[in-house]
Amino acid sequence: MRRMAPQNLSAAESLTRLREGNTRYKQNVRSVDAMMSHSRRDLTSQSPFAVVLGCADSRAPAEIVFDQGLGDLFVIRVAGNIVAPSQIGSVEFAAARTGARLVVVLGHSRCGAILATLEEMGRPSTDQSRGLRSIVERIQPAIEPILLSQITPTDDALIRRAVRANVRASVQQLYRGSGILERLVQTDGLMIVGAEYCLETGIVEFFDGV
Ligand SMILES: [Zn+2]
Repeated sequence: MRRMAPQNLSAAESLTRLREGNTRYKQNVRSVDAMMSHSRRDLTSQSPFAVVLGCADSRAPAEIVFDQGLGDLFVIRVAGNIVAPSQIGSVEFAAARTGARLVVVLGHSRCGAILATLEEMGRPSTDQSRGLRSIVERIQPAIEPILLSQITPTDDALIRRAVRANVRASVQQLYRGSGILERLVQTDGLMIVGAEYCLETGIVEFFDGV
């Protein structure tokens, strides 16, 4: 039985590692180390270098789009990459217990949760399940300020803006919703950033200023 060696990367170093991994993915190149790691069964502890809160969409798996190996990323996936108490708790656990110093909120193009929210705002339904409504209601406040009445939900520019607004809202909710994360940001080098994965190009674009 072997323990995984601590990675001890700073937030900036972790960001570089993710950017490099996405460049490989975009170029259809794969890390041999990452591929070999997928068959490891001897990790008795974990030390991921980054936490990713991403959408559950089947086309947006963080480990693949960042070309990372087993144990490298602590990934939380939920439709619309929303921040509810269980997501905050998961990020707190990862940041406080595993040593990861980078948290990425990863939205993506053509997000079904965003589209569903836009549709719901345009034409409220009466038969939406409570579970689905709980997701839409978390996304809606992020989108409302940018929603113009004359633009329909099929407008690509609107959808893109909505995806990004929702990512930024999730970043802010992580910053403001947790005393543990706030302390780690202020005193221990934790960084929380937003990013958008483009399904069409394979490129992850990290946001400035969030
Ligand atoms: Zn999505």
